[in-house]
Amino acid sequence: MAATDWIRPEVRALSAYHVPDASGFIKLDAMENPFELPAELAPGLADALQHASLNRYPDPAARVLTDTLREVAGIPPDCGVMLGNGSDEIIQIIALALAKPGATLMSVEPAFVMFKVIAELTGLRYVGVPLKADFSLDEDSLIAALARERPAVVFLACPNNPTGNLFDLDAVERVVRAAPGLVVIDEAYAAFSRESFLPRLSRHGNAVLMRTLSKLGLAGLRLGYLAGGLDWLGEFNKVRLPYNINALSQAAATFALRHHAVLTEQARTIVTFRDALAAQLGRLPGVSVFPSEANFLLFRVPDADRAFAGLKSRKILVKNVSRAHPMLAGCLRVSLGTADENAAFLAALQASL
Ligand SMILES: *Cc1c(COP(=O)(O)O)cnc(C)c1O
Repeated sequence: MAATDWIRPEVRALSAYHVPDASGFIKLDAMENPFELPAELAPGLADALQHASLNRYPDPAARVLTDTLREVAGIPPDCGVMLGNGSDEIIQIIALALAKPGATLMSVEPAFVMFKVIAELTGLRYVGVPLKADFSLDEDSLIAALARERPAVVFLACPNNPTGNLFDLDAVERVVRAAPGLVVIDEAYAAFSRESFLPRLSRHGNAVLMRTLSKLGLAGLRLGYLAGGLDWLGEFNKVRLPYNINALSQAAATFALRHHAVLTEQARTIVTFRDALAAQLGRLPGVSVFPSEANFLLFRVPDADRAFAGLKSRKILVKNVSRAHPMLAGCLRVSLGTADENAAFLAALQASL
């Protein structure tokens, strides 16, 4: 018998998440923060790591890190907090906990691809409700879909990836009220956005808020968190594997969060770069750029494959999302880099159109 005879058909139907080799490239494809931690923080970080006991299992509740996170993020005291090895793991934990036979995971389209991938992997039925042509929430069709499909969970990324826009949070709140089950507000890009759902969280027993440190400058640590009611989080916590946040990540993230002003300052710089690059892109003939509240820009060009190949030949890696969804035809997504990287990208794009 071959391996494929034993593997679940849903797994066989998937293709492995592809990460292109970026060595030698200016890497603007994965929404990473282009800035490293400032050199003056290195000794403190080294000291924090040195005091992590690698011979012991990590604190399964990551108490020191969780308390620091609560304080820095301003999580309401009545909310629980659960940590994940990246927010991808949290999506998986939620899906595993809710995957009753026949249960549905709903999101909008285009949205973050992992919602659909994890639904398929965990045996949830996936339903995607299209956004409007300007990528805003189609509130009426979403609310109609909630009544029709009765999803166990709805994932909404605010701001949305790969489109970059922030949905109207009043509309999001009406969706939460109309949802029969749980709504997960994914704020991976909170640091770059003008508004957050956090102040509204405690009003809703069926909403939870998910964030990550990845886009804020700590992608290498793999740390995401979920805030929300203890009735939900208590159950999710049973699905979470006991030591999912390793000791080095706990120590490094705690240290970095104690210096979070540095990260927030970097995020502010990235926002000014974003607004400047959006204006420059908008002036290129044939290029249209979509409004962004994140650390990346989605833009449409006359020929996405040609522009992507031209950028690549000039050693600039962006994400070609033009075939990810019909509404993204002609679109590329670029993460903000340093000032020099953004300038190099702009020049290379001009030469590649
Ligand atoms: C990047 C991203 C994530 C995943 O973040 P990790 O914490 O690195 O796993 C989740 N949601 C959205 C919308 C993202 O863009």
